[in-house]
Amino acid sequence: MINIVENLRAVRNEIETSRKLRKVEINEPVTLIAVTKNHDVEMMQQAIDAGAQHIGENRIQEAAEKFKSLNREVTRHLIGHLQTNKAKQAVRLFDLIHSVDSEHLAAAIDNAAYSVGKIQDVLIQVNLAKEETKSGVYEENLQSLIEKIDTLKNIRLRGFMLIAPNYSDVEDCRPLFRRMYEIFDKVRKTRQDFEYLSMGMTHDYKIAIEEGSNVVRIGTAIFGERNY
Ligand SMILES: *Cc1c(COP(=O)(O)O)cnc(C)c1O
Repeated sequence: MINIVENLRAVRNEIETSRKLRKVEINEPVTLIAVTKNHDVEMMQQAIDAGAQHIGENRIQEAAEKFKSLNREVTRHLIGHLQTNKAKQAVRLFDLIHSVDSEHLAAAIDNAAYSVGKIQDVLIQVNLAKEETKSGVYEENLQSLIEKIDTLKNIRLRGFMLIAPNYSDVEDCRPLFRRMYEIFDKVRKTRQDFEYLSMGMTHDYKIAIEEGSNVVRIGTAIFGERNY
């Protein structure tokens, strides 16, 4: 049996431990997003009852159905790839969209946000390792995407998101996390409302936090393995 209460407590303890080992910004707290994708709404509700305040989903349809039956307000995160034709649904459903990686998508979200009368908070997903199988903007295109987003009135850039490659030795992620933090910190010094560095999942969040992450997205360590 999966014990969500116990798992959440264990993850929170690990987060605090890693935070103390941080090389950077020692006192900054870490936001824990409980990733409920592919788990049913009962599991989601259990996590919320156990104190989870941030919920992450990666598919619009699945999220829409599950969010309907929630009985408590939580902060909702879209962590998966977003197609432009679903921008309006995404804007209605989510507080923070982590996966903006093109001007085209940014413009679609801006339009959608305008039409529902909202300023949409977003992160830019960065593909630092240039993995062809993953979404995310390459580092050399990051600045121009930031500038594009700054021209849009209905979206607000709040930070960056990174998905590290699935190396067999998780220590191999460390230089990437470090590099991502450097880029993040440089940009942060020049902007307002820019504060989130979303990096770290079940297998690599401890290292991500040590290197400066302040938002982690955890599924498996809380809910167990997913059955796809
Ligand atoms: C599924 C997913 C997670 C959570 O992964 P776990 O390994 O189960 O912790 C985090 N981030 C993204 C973008 C995901 O798609």
